[in-house]
Amino acid sequence: MKNPALAIHGGAGTISRNNLSSEKERQYREALADALASGRELLTSGAHALDVVERCVRVLEDCPLFNAGRGSVFTHEGTHEMDASVMRGDTLAAGAVAGVHGVKNPVSLARHVMENTRHVMLCGEGALAYAREAGLEMMPEDWFFSAFRHAQWQDARKDGDVRLDHAGDRKFGTVGAVALDRAGNLAAATSTGGMTNKRSGRVGDTPLVGAGTYANNQTCAVSCTGDGEYFIRAVAAYDLACLMQYGNYSLEEAARKVIMEKIKTAGGEGGLIAIDASGHIVLPFNSEGMYRGWWREGEPPKTGIYRDE
Ligand code: ASP
Repeated sequence: MKNPALAIHGGAGTISRNNLSSEKERQYREALADALASGRELLTSGAHALDVVERCVRVLEDCPLFNAGRGSVFTHEGTHEMDASVMRGDTLAAGAVAGVHGVKNPVSLARHVMENTRHVMLCGEGALAYAREAGLEMMPEDWFFSAFRHAQWQDARKDGDVRLDHAGDRKFGTVGAVALDRAGNLAAATSTGGMTNKRSGRVGDTPLVGAGTYANNQTCAVSCTGDGEYFIRAVAAYDLACLMQYGNYSLEEAARKVIMEKIKTAGGEGGLIAIDASGHIVLPFNSEGMYRGWWREGEPPKTGIYRDE
């Protein structure tokens, strides 16, 4: 029997006390605390880590503050294209969707693909047809509309820029969760709207198993956020697990190597959350801040945004 533990993120980037009002900060902390609480409740009642990461990511997808689900950013064409994935560390089963719209909780669609098809990933219209067939909850496009995201997209279009979530700043609002359950199982889930003003059809690291998401009971569970293209080229989440498995790195050393050395040296910005089979948690980021929360049984839940906390 293990002491369950959990970590979540709501994206990394240029997040500092200077550019976040105290009201916004309160809202973010509350949203992170809500997601953590829903995961804790499941973990303490003995749920599987997969149920826990799905639940946490659903809560974050439903919160318009984050760039996933309801709060997804706009593509260049003014549409939403969401990516998500899940992986369980006991069986190495994985599921993912890319470029979907109208699906309320893409993470649950990814899980559905994992559990009910012979495939790992579905994308675009095929994924949507599957979502309808499977009875996933769909929402009208205006559910995904936010004036803030719209203004952000208009700004990015004006400059001909592809941006990571936030006008003026670089902020990644992707959400993710990693968990260790009482039975010793690990799981990871990640969900995103991608990058503001991205080309239609662009797929980031989030739905790519091994890049943005990975879980293996032998090593760790990982969920990434940041410049997706860098995380894809680095095969970041799997690289972290490999450093542990083949290089005998600790979770901490491996996470540091990937985020502070490999991704950073290549020019990529971002961070990740990871948890190992003993319940150690790391939440490194090479950007100014990262929305994050973590909890271990017997300890109070914690949230963090800035570097110095
Ligand atoms: N990694 C995501 C992507 O490139 C962006 C993010 O983390 O917000 O799609």
